[in-house]
Amino acid sequence: MTEKAGVLYVVATPIGNLGDMTERALAVLREVDVVAAEDTRHARHLLTHFGIQAELYAYHEHNEDDSAQGLIKVLESGRSLALVSDAGTPLISDPGFVLVRAARARGLRVVPIPGASAAICALSAAGLPSDRFLFLGFPPRTGSKCRDWLAGVAAEPGTLVFYESGRRAERTLGDLAAVLGGGRRAVVARELTKHFETFLSGTLEELAGRLAGDEEQRLGELVLLVEGADAGLGAVQAREEERVLGILAADLPLKQAAALAARITGGSKNRLYQVGLALAHAER
Ligand code: SAM
Repeated sequence: MTEKAGVLYVVATPIGNLGDMTERALAVLREVDVVAAEDTRHARHLLTHFGIQAELYAYHEHNEDDSAQGLIKVLESGRSLALVSDAGTPLISDPGFVLVRAARARGLRVVPIPGASAAICALSAAGLPSDRFLFLGFPPRTGSKCRDWLAGVAAEPGTLVFYESGRRAERTLGDLAAVLGGGRRAVVARELTKHFETFLSGTLEELAGRLAGDEEQRLGELVLLVEGADAGLGAVQAREEERVLGILAADLPLKQAAALAARITGGSKNRLYQVGLALAHAER
């Protein structure tokens, strides 16, 4: 490591197989003054496995502003700091953004130490198009919110990538099938880099049925990947739906305009409602 005083290192750790820990990550964790972690017990376990002793500091998402201020003081006192997550890359559906933004705003050096991230790991082996993808993190918990949210990405031509727990996956696959259509190709990438690593491929409908009938496939952690809307046809259709919505929304309340536009074009009422909200927001 070169000059490390006051440097914030954002360090990726394995998502399962500890053999995926990089040499650079180990070198940084050995040499920094403080390691900030979401769960210090978990981090202690990981560090001990690699024979590393470190001063640990808890960095929680629910009090991220306060935690970040404390860590900025550490950095401004000239000490170096490594931020780690429980697994994978910090900031990717994990805490860290507030700290990195604050460090950059103060002109502090922020150095990424790359490694595993479940989304990229899944995408690299799922067999769905990877030239364009949209990472969406965890879907909203309630069914209606989730379906409205999904409607907003129904026309996205890139592969959609979601995080989900095994416990909730069946329900989320059902919501995905309801909004995007049960025939879309998808992959469930489960327990990546671990002993029971599994890739299940099929349509959304098939996968929802597969998980419903096989408890084992609902265990552990998983990434859901769904092929994008048909790039050519989907985009043309989406533009036509939005054109009709625009005309109707000029004279009608949005809810009514979205429902009518959906009936005229065969599009999704939910998606059009979300598009209308986004347009109204952008015009403000
Ligand atoms: N920061 C992490 C990353 O870079 O991948 C993600 C943290 S997020 C709190 C945890 C979610 O990541 C899990 O619910 C699951 O969707 C996904 N995940 C993490 N490890 C995984 C694994 N080994 N196999 C499949 N999915 C995994």
